[in-house]
Amino acid sequence: MLEWDGKRIVAGGGGQLFDLIAFSVRQGLAGLETLVGIRGTVGGSVRCNVGDRSGEIGQAVQRVTVLTDDGKIHVRTRDQLAFSEHQSDIDEPVILSVEFELDKDAPAAILKRMRKAWVLRKAAEPFSFQSAVRLFRNPPGQTASALIDRAGLGKLASAGRN
Ligand SMILES: Cc1cc2nc3c(=O)[nH]c(=O)nc-3n(C[C@H](O)[C@H](O)[C@H](O)COP(=O)(O)OP(=O)(O)OC[C@H]3O[C@@H](n4cnc5c(N)ncnc54)[C@H](O)[C@@H]3O)c2cc1C
Repeated sequence: MLEWDGKRIVAGGGGQLFDLIAFSVRQGLAGLETLVGIRGTVGGSVRCNVGDRSGEIGQAVQRVTVLTDDGKIHVRTRDQLAFSEHQSDIDEPVILSVEFELDKDAPAAILKRMRKAWVLRKAAEPFSFQSAVRLFRNPPGQTASALIDRAGLGKLASAGRN
């Protein structure tokens, strides 16, 4: 489900993040385009507050409709939500839908930023080494990749590929 009204888009939690990004770009709405290439559903991506140095999805979230443990539908508004690096405080079992507020911009400018983000993300993830999943969570103040390299596990993984 993808609905659009002015600067707002409501997306179903089970929809693909890519479809939401493509939809927002088509409407001339900026704010999600630099997340292109991150795999996942809208619900999973909001729960994990996906993003990178260019920004995080949580910045655009205005309302989240969730299914609670006792089977009730509940709406959490922006002031009732907290997002931090790769985390949110959404702990209800199901995110049913998410409302985003985005900024109007020229479609050509949004498309240019999206293309640049795509190229940078793909360059950081060569096609032959594409990952199916991300297993590790960054511990506070450190990165999982740096710890893996320090433990020498990165070399083992490279050797396994050859
Ligand atoms: C190659 C690769 C590159 C990546 N690059 C990035 C990156 O640059 N930045 C970044 O932040 N992440 C990145 N990720 C991580 C990944 O894209 C996200 O974790 C993903 O978007 C999560 O969405 P998902 O639907 O796959 O959720 P899942 O992995 O299936 O679930 C993640 C969590 O969300 C919960 N969840 C899922 N759907 C819902 C729902 N509808 N309602 C409630 N809870 C739900 C699950 O229970 C689980 O706790 C990358 C992953 C891969 C494989």
